[in-house]
Amino acid sequence: MSHTAGIDLHTHSSCSDGSLTPGELVERAAAAGVRVLALTDHDTLAGVAEARAAAERLGIRLVPGVELSAGWRHQSIHVLGLWIDPESAALKAALEGQAERRRTRMRRMCAALSKMRLPGDELLAAVEAHPGIPTRSHLAAALVQQGHARRIQDAFRKYLGRGRPAHVAADWPALEEIVGWAREAGGVACLAHPARYLLSSGGRKRLVADFAAAGGTALEVVSGGNGAQNAPACAALALAFGLRGSVGSDFHGPQLAWNPLGRLAKLPAGIDPVWRGRD
Ligand code: AMP
Ligand code: MN
Ligand code: MN
Ligand code: MN
Repeated sequence: MSHTAGIDLHTHSSCSDGSLTPGELVERAAAAGVRVLALTDHDTLAGVAEARAAAERLGIRLVPGVELSAGWRHQSIHVLGLWIDPESAALKAALEGQAERRRTRMRRMCAALSKMRLPGDELLAAVEAHPGIPTRSHLAAALVQQGHARRIQDAFRKYLGRGRPAHVAADWPALEEIVGWAREAGGVACLAHPARYLLSSGGRKRLVADFAAAGGTALEVVSGGNGAQNAPACAALALAFGLRGSVGSDFHGPQLAWNPLGRLAKLPAGIDPVWRGRD
């Protein structure tokens, strides 16, 4: 298989739910041959400065990014803001709102777990001990650590996944607003892992149409989280709506072997790379 040499525009550090610190992430990326790396933690820019310093040291390009949580038709949708200005006051203020929504949702999820006779207060304390932004991954890890699920996947299957008893929908801002945040911070908006949402093909088309109409720039056509097999369908959507294409592993840590850093399939022919003119 051929790969997109050295470009990975979707990764997580321990500032959200990744397992490596931003510096460790950049070191691993450089060792894997990545030349252009975006750090895209969930709803936080906290890791960008450390990642940028490490990237400068190692001679690779760091794209400042963030994976923004958005609401669209009762679903959570992820929009990558790439090449954003990490000093943008408007974006920082918006992300403080996202953090507050996450804290509120985490308390409600733990309350739901308490109702199921699980120790919600202890689980909340374990999540709050983590210095980064709280995500369901942290709650899943606490459920495993405290012996209520065997593996992270089981915690999602039993409690935290969509439609499960401790799942709480966050009141994320609408897709249009989120796309605006990325653009107003000088960046481009890229719809993350388009194949991963639970949508019919018609629903996915409407999502991409709405994303493009809101000012979105790119689709993550090649996504580690997706599997390369979804790339042709995503490429067709990108072409249909005049969007550029991105590639990203959605790397969360070396323990998850299915989306290693920087080993991504090439963008299908005819797709305009979102990094063109910037690499
Ligand atoms: P949140 O943004 O708090 O809703 O958490 C979403 C994160 O949880 C995703 O970015 C994934 O890292 C993780 N996640 C979601 N579903 C699963 C699953 N079924 N198994 C493992 N991790 C998951
Ligand atoms: Mn995640
Ligand atoms: Mn995501
Ligand atoms: Mn991600």
